[in-house]
Amino acid sequence: MNTPIVLRGKLVTDTEIIDDGAVVFDEEVKKSGRASEVLTEAEAAQAKTVEGYILPGLVDVHCHGGGGESFPNSETTDQARVAIMEHRKHGTTTLVASGVTASADVLRERAKTLTELCKEGELAGIHFEGPFVSVERRGAQDATYIIDPDPALTQELIDLCEGYCVTMTLAPEKDRAYGEGSVAEVLIEGGALPSWGHTDSSPEHVREALKYSRKKLEQIAPRSPKATATHLFNGMRPIHHRDPGPVPEFVADAAQDGAILELIADGIHVAPDMVRAVYETIGRDALVFVTDAMAAAGMPDGSYQLGPQAVTVKDGVARLTNGNSIAGGTSHLLDQVRLLVNGGYVPLVDAVYMATKQGADILGDTTVGHLRPGAKGDVLVTDKELNPEAVYRRGELV
Ligand SMILES: [Zn+2]
Repeated sequence: MNTPIVLRGKLVTDTEIIDDGAVVFDEEVKKSGRASEVLTEAEAAQAKTVEGYILPGLVDVHCHGGGGESFPNSETTDQARVAIMEHRKHGTTTLVASGVTASADVLRERAKTLTELCKEGELAGIHFEGPFVSVERRGAQDATYIIDPDPALTQELIDLCEGYCVTMTLAPEKDRAYGEGSVAEVLIEGGALPSWGHTDSSPEHVREALKYSRKKLEQIAPRSPKATATHLFNGMRPIHHRDPGPVPEFVADAAQDGAILELIADGIHVAPDMVRAVYETIGRDALVFVTDAMAAAGMPDGSYQLGPQAVTVKDGVARLTNGNSIAGGTSHLLDQVRLLVNGGYVPLVDAVYMATKQGADILGDTTVGHLRPGAKGDVLVTDKELNPEAVYRRGELV
């Protein structure tokens, strides 16, 4: 790569929108800030003017697929690449591939396939959603394959991922979910994070699990000092003031600098007013937006597969064909930012923060999720309405 790319326009940083901003990058960001302060005359002459916004490439830490393919169903790396590209074209330059509950053999196979893509730099990591989850709150996880927490299987999966296992979703109320000799212990010691969720738990178990993971992560913080919660509200016993369930415990813990809570902010899984209320209550540092997208992201309505389960998508909403449970999302992460910002629910700077910096923190990767010098050259250009116009990854136009 020879001459760096120079973009000039409204630059969204983690604290402000710089109206006349600029970013100079190739594989890496060289400079960014106010155009008048950072650009040389030659760079100013060369700059490409953007009418809309310049954002860091987005970071999605919970995604099952898109473009007609899904990670839980990818027998080859080429199938998984289709899903990666669907999200990348829409601005997600850092992506974690999520599995679903399946047989141990299928989980082993997917771990191997997805790890290859992590090593190539195409994926940022792997998230196992299940198999140690609540049958009652399984959502689209297949009950046939839900099993009790198995630290030995967890260790095996972590080893197969060669350092790329980022998170595993598990239910705190199950035996050996947390504590000595638990799945959470194996995860943290193996460089991954427990993501508490798909749970029918009482407040007590959630509280204890969060206390355990916080303490353990204080001793060893492999990538992030914070555990996560898998899609707050979805796959959980709903909140009721006489039967509070897990939700208030997650929110309280996150408010006290504890776990980072995932929100599927697509307007389908959680009402935008609820997203706004949670954001206004506990703030952007406690939340991360995720798509939980399945194969139908970017595709028409129809029949799809999510791991072992058949899914029907109608009006952009994915539901299990047998049953009525919502079965993953169909949004791209930028769709969520657009919905929340244009609808007046969350300010642009904070919406972008929850779609970039927060995911980067979970990964423990300081080179993505922002456009300060030294960051990877992952840049998303949008129009004024936050539709994607151009995506650069490592300085290359996608
Ligand atoms: Zn999911």
